[in-house]
Amino acid sequence: MTVRVRFAPSPTGPLHMGGVRTALYNYLFARKHGGQFLLRVEDTDQTRYVPGAEDYIKESLAWCGLVPDESPWAGGPDGPYRQSDRKHLYKAYADELIAKDKAYYAFDTPEELDAMRERLQAAGVAAPAYNAVTREHMKNSITLGADEVKERIARGDAYVIRLKVPRHVEVRFEDIIRGWVTVHSANIDDKVLFKSDGMPTYHLANIVDDHLMRITHVIRGEEWLPSAPLHVLIYEAFGWERPAFAHLPLILKPDGNGKLSKRDGDRLGFPVFALDWTDPVTNEKSSGYRERGYYPEAFINMLALLGWNPGTDQEIMSVDELVRLFDLDRVHKGGARFDPEKTKWFNQQYLRMRPDAELGAQLLELLREQGIGTTLDRAIRAAALLKERATFVGDMLEGSYLFTTGSPLSGNAVAETELRKRWKPEAATAIEAYIAALKELPSFTPEALDAAFNAVLLGKGMKTGQVMPVYRLFVAGRMQGPGMFDVSALLGREEVIARLKAGLALCASWV
Ligand code: GLU
Repeated sequence: MTVRVRFAPSPTGPLHMGGVRTALYNYLFARKHGGQFLLRVEDTDQTRYVPGAEDYIKESLAWCGLVPDESPWAGGPDGPYRQSDRKHLYKAYADELIAKDKAYYAFDTPEELDAMRERLQAAGVAAPAYNAVTREHMKNSITLGADEVKERIARGDAYVIRLKVPRHVEVRFEDIIRGWVTVHSANIDDKVLFKSDGMPTYHLANIVDDHLMRITHVIRGEEWLPSAPLHVLIYEAFGWERPAFAHLPLILKPDGNGKLSKRDGDRLGFPVFALDWTDPVTNEKSSGYRERGYYPEAFINMLALLGWNPGTDQEIMSVDELVRLFDLDRVHKGGARFDPEKTKWFNQQYLRMRPDAELGAQLLELLREQGIGTTLDRAIRAAALLKERATFVGDMLEGSYLFTTGSPLSGNAVAETELRKRWKPEAATAIEAYIAALKELPSFTPEALDAAFNAVLLGKGMKTGQVMPVYRLFVAGRMQGPGMFDVSALLGREEVIARLKAGLALCASWV
């Protein structure tokens, strides 16, 4: 048996990262087992269709590297892969169920349905449903005579086709993640399979397509678990072998309980979508991981661990490694709490793995945008130093002092305040001695600078902490950053000495 799995999004808006995780787990499972990963667009609900959403889904998956083997865009042996392009196909299946007495026509008007609900509510039924008991009192092909049914259909009366859920059965199936699920059929209502607008409902189209597309495993979000018993009944009604089910855990809010939503992202300042999205109706904008500067590898790695673990402490995994390690057996039952800080951490790890040459070229570009010129070689050397502290490529701009000339203290009130806190007159004598030593250094390397600095401290009987912060503020204008000997070697002798002198002059002006 070849594994065939599908991701079946509805184009009702941008793809939430929970959806990307579902696609990812499907992808990993397919790759691991040498199978196929399909994408099917489920757009039978025309009222919820959002223009642009399908392209957005396609682009999001492409950015993540989760390209389906078969899809509306790539085609494939079981196409078309967009349900609206398959709409001619579903009616025959609904009819087949009617012929098998597993489904029936229902002619009830919305008013009649409302009246039924009200009646039941008044009688104390908490969740009124169209089911094995109530259908006996409604207008359908079970209660109406065969002739009347024929007549109504011939006349063009609106009808739906409902599943005839058996009255006293226990519906059981084994979910790969959740284990055995048992639901009594009394808790399943006679769901509409085919609507009066001539379109199938999600339930019918989903099952018919999974069957026709030879899907072996249905891997989807937990929100579909309540529908699974109904789906099992539909497979049984057709007499089809059903795929295995695996319902993935919810992704939870970083704080508190409940499912992660776009509102949490807005509230706490992180994206919940892979890419930027502008709602075509409201024009409301939502930000995406791509535009925030995340690497797709980092995003995918983070998502893989949101509900699964490899059984070890390993956290950084390439897609190939994920394919090798992934298994549905290790997917958790419980909800997975999303951690935006951890997501940044992943990006930082992936940034550090990028070659200096690539980061240098990106830094050069960013500097140019800021009107700061330098050479590629210097940008690469700087990137090698700055990448250790950067989460995003843009963070390396914190090191712009490596490319400008002149004292980073001038016009920098923040640095000056910091300096006033750190400054002691003895530091001046140490810096003066250091300047003198720098002038004599045969080669201006980090090692030589380090030795010279320590020799000065030793001579003065001072500690690193008494001089280093001052040195740092004089040369870099900020307390955080790469090691000062590396920074100084990159800036060059003349510039470092000039900055140290400017710093001394500033401090001298305070007294
Ligand atoms: N169209 C459904 C969705 O939007 C697919 C559910 C399933 O995978 O069966 O999530």
